[in-house]
Amino acid sequence: MNENQPVALGLDLGGTACKLGVFDVKSGEMLEHTSSLVKDGKRPGAELFDQFCKAAEGLLRARGMGPEQVVSVCVASAGILGPEGAREPAEFELVTNSPNIPGVNGFNIKEALKARFANALTFIENDAKAHGWAEWFYGAGQEPQVHTLVGFTLGTGLGGFVVVDGKMIRPAELGHVQIDTGVDAPFCGCGMRGCAEAFVSKVAIRRLGSEFLARYPESKLKEIGASSHGFDPLPIAKAAETGDEGCRMLYEHVGFYLGKLIWQLKRVFMPDVVICSGNIANDLHLLLPGIMAVLENDRLLERQPVIRKTNLGPAKAGIIGAGALAIHGCKTRT
Ligand SMILES: [Zn+2]
Repeated sequence: MNENQPVALGLDLGGTACKLGVFDVKSGEMLEHTSSLVKDGKRPGAELFDQFCKAAEGLLRARGMGPEQVVSVCVASAGILGPEGAREPAEFELVTNSPNIPGVNGFNIKEALKARFANALTFIENDAKAHGWAEWFYGAGQEPQVHTLVGFTLGTGLGGFVVVDGKMIRPAELGHVQIDTGVDAPFCGCGMRGCAEAFVSKVAIRRLGSEFLARYPESKLKEIGASSHGFDPLPIAKAAETGDEGCRMLYEHVGFYLGKLIWQLKRVFMPDVVICSGNIANDLHLLLPGIMAVLENDRLLERQPVIRKTNLGPAKAGIIGAGALAIHGCKTRT
């Protein structure tokens, strides 16, 4: 590999893992990628970033490259970005509030990247919005009939984005739109009750596992819950596929609440397409009966958005978005 080849790094930091990719700046091709487990999101930001930067340096070494070849880095992170007033990936410096990775709160990511990759431009974006950029530049956004694109990242939490004719709408914290106003609605990681994330996320599925086991005591949920991974979405989805009623109804219930959120978004934006990514989106077909049960009751706006999985690879959309922003950013600035 050419030791002068300029490369960009894309890091997609979620609640469970940080996915990293090395991209060729000229072609946009992803040359290498790996994943580094977060393990404990309460660890100090400096420690977490040291781990991720080491993983990135390891990827570069595997291609016979050094950190001096990195001309641009983009970190896509779960959470609210700052400082106050910043609106674009080149302006963001830190995460001010990340319920699922609290260790990074207040940690200056931009400075940490600058110290590690001295020749690089630095960009920071919300992880779900990085998926939005990937989708706009490489996915559904390229279809001529698509003007308003809404998307969800269904992972540890629930991220989202709204892109209208190439403009990213902010803050559009779709996971924290309140969809249950009841006084006993479940708490969300943000401290409020009734947010969409409290119903549609890995964290929510873990809570619902016990509830649905109580309702369906014969369900495979019993052995799934007793396993070392607890109520993990993946085995629940697998059991739903084989006809387990409790597991199927649990997914339908999650879909029902995602449908409520899409209903609200229809009222404001009427998206042409709703794109789902993240590991839970692999089983979108199990959520769709619940989603459509809500949307098909709509007598005001009867047109339904197309709801589908990303074509970019559900687990890769964030990293592709981070890479696209790093490449796009350095091309417009050099
Ligand atoms: Zn919330």
